[in-house]
Amino acid sequence: MSCFVIGNWKMNLLQVSAQDLVKGLVDRGAVSDDRVSVVVCPPYTLLACMHDLTAQGIMLGGQNCHHASKGAFTGEISAEMLSDLGCRYVILGHSERRRDYNESDADVGHKAKLAREAGLVPVICLGETLSERQDGATFDVIERQLRGLIDAAGIDVVASSVIAYEPVWAIGTGLAATSQQAQEVHARIREVLVGRGFTSHVPLLYGGSVTADNASELFACPDIDGALVGGASLKAEEFAKIVDHARRQPA
Ligand code: PEP
Repeated sequence: MSCFVIGNWKMNLLQVSAQDLVKGLVDRGAVSDDRVSVVVCPPYTLLACMHDLTAQGIMLGGQNCHHASKGAFTGEISAEMLSDLGCRYVILGHSERRRDYNESDADVGHKAKLAREAGLVPVICLGETLSERQDGATFDVIERQLRGLIDAAGIDVVASSVIAYEPVWAIGTGLAATSQQAQEVHARIREVLVGRGFTSHVPLLYGGSVTADNASELFACPDIDGALVGGASLKAEEFAKIVDHARRQPA
């Protein structure tokens, strides 16, 4: 099974700097092959000018989509619009959206359904906050998020998605989860999915301060199938090294 390295550019870059970054990735060979799927998720404004990326082996994803398929939703973007611009993936339920826009597990599930209908693969984020971890509630939170997601989206949609475990306390802090902490949550997610009757292998990515220095150890964990990368995805050399670590994992 190939693993994933997905870059979340968030609200960064303009056309020229984005083209420079992509050129830096292609020059360093940070492109998809049979071992690793490389995806970048630029802001909406850059999607059209990133259109020819797929020909170079880098797939495109959106960072969010709306929970309705079309209509009077000023300022919003539908899953079908992302697909129309060449996206194959869409990040859903990122903790920044859950926190800043009150997105619930059910909202994320509805979006995932529409994303699948539009031919996109949802990359669904979940994870606990620092206080939830300190309270010993990590597994409860993960299980609640998974339950809400599956109830809203259905097993078939979640089975054809990618799940990213992103502990909120590790995002953008430079304080990544240890490989042991990440592995135990991934194993739990896997257990919950099997318990709910999932038979297919849902790729489980880790996200939260992944760098070229910690990627290899994380990728070596049995239940970690890749990474969702924020800050380090904006630096060509760093992101390319992460892709390289993914490629070097035994199949
Ligand atoms: C993210 O925002 O999805 C993320 C993982 O960010 P960072 O890698 O910067 O922690």
